[in-house]
Amino acid sequence: MSAPVLVINSGSSSIKYQLVDGDTREASTSGLIERIGQSESVITHKTGEEKRVWNEHLDDHAAGLAAMVKACGEFGTPLSEAGLIAVAHRVVHGGERFVQPVVIDDEVEAVVADLIELAPLHNPANLEGIRVARRLFPDLPQVAVFDTAFHATMPERAHVYAVPTAWREEHGVRRYGFHGISHAYVSRRAAEMLGKDPKEVNVIVAHLGNGASITAVERGRSIDTSMGLTPLEGLVMGTRSGDIDPAIVFHMHRRTGASFDELDEALNKRSGMLALTGAIDMRGIVRAAAEGDQTCASALEIYCYRVRKYIGSYIAALGGADAVAFTAGVGENSAEVRARSLEPLAALGLRLDESANQAGGPVISTSDSRITAMVIPTDEEGEIAEQTAALLRS
Ligand code: ADP
Repeated sequence: MSAPVLVINSGSSSIKYQLVDGDTREASTSGLIERIGQSESVITHKTGEEKRVWNEHLDDHAAGLAAMVKACGEFGTPLSEAGLIAVAHRVVHGGERFVQPVVIDDEVEAVVADLIELAPLHNPANLEGIRVARRLFPDLPQVAVFDTAFHATMPERAHVYAVPTAWREEHGVRRYGFHGISHAYVSRRAAEMLGKDPKEVNVIVAHLGNGASITAVERGRSIDTSMGLTPLEGLVMGTRSGDIDPAIVFHMHRRTGASFDELDEALNKRSGMLALTGAIDMRGIVRAAAEGDQTCASALEIYCYRVRKYIGSYIAALGGADAVAFTAGVGENSAEVRARSLEPLAALGLRLDESANQAGGPVISTSDSRITAMVIPTDEEGEIAEQTAALLRS
């Protein structure tokens, strides 16, 4: 590896890590530590083709990262001998301040802490990962790569909410957008697959995972995206409602007396496909719908209808698109979701090739389709490593 970067994606009870070459995007080691703070944490560690899974009690993120160092030492290359050029952290919210990756110092750490106000569900865990890693690797540059940054190019018409001036000017209320690391990578790959420079094409990226968002990318720049101030806006997701009439919050508060924290939790953690079907796993929902389960069939229709509306509206926002690219767990794997989302778009110039879609692409539209539909596996860790290496070189 010429530019090994340790990429850390720290969640509230989990840590994902990957050792990636910032030049070639090649990953040598990766792992997932889950259920941190519970009685038994689960560590999954992969080196090349070899995968090991074991349980261990890990109190907190410090114990989690220590377990990662130990696992890398025992299986594969010890991190101290890997020639690391940096530790890179995925940070969900960079607010208006961070529109590029940045080397972390005390001031950057303080701003990420301030941004907890805007991302209470995500930034605290990202920050914890940063704090622990700075102690653990004091001699290495630590870099933050932000999920909001790619969307900093959104024009005013897309990022301004029509709300009172003080909300916008004093409280940071605007659309920020998320999944930017994935949208940046996938939109570039889509251009590459079209044989064009990203600056020559308009691409719509549908990142459909547990969290899901769609972005309109005009000539390489994000001009609109479905998530807003927080990742709650937009598509129907695993546990999030996506777009709703904001007055539902007041209605439910008045009717049930539920507190705002309770309503926040209901919309972020107990809504979406979970509320519609009782399950989050899209695989099971698609299967049940195919077997005649009406609840799952209508939930799937609701999910795909929202995807279709966003794609249609972004074709309009862009004044025409060259490609629509599907990515992440659902987008990469569910031909059913892609078909239901795309089939009615033939009138807008997107003609699905059913057998190519079933086969998983990469191109899933017919050769005479004006808009090329594609399946592109995302690579957020590779993108983080590449952006980190580029930053350190600049
Ligand atoms: P996260 O947002 O947590 O990173 P992922 O991008 O890994 O999520 O996507 C997870 C989702 O992908 C889950 O809902 C899972 O059910 C779904 N998924 C994975 N494989 C398939 C499949 N073959 N068909 C439908 N959904 C799938």
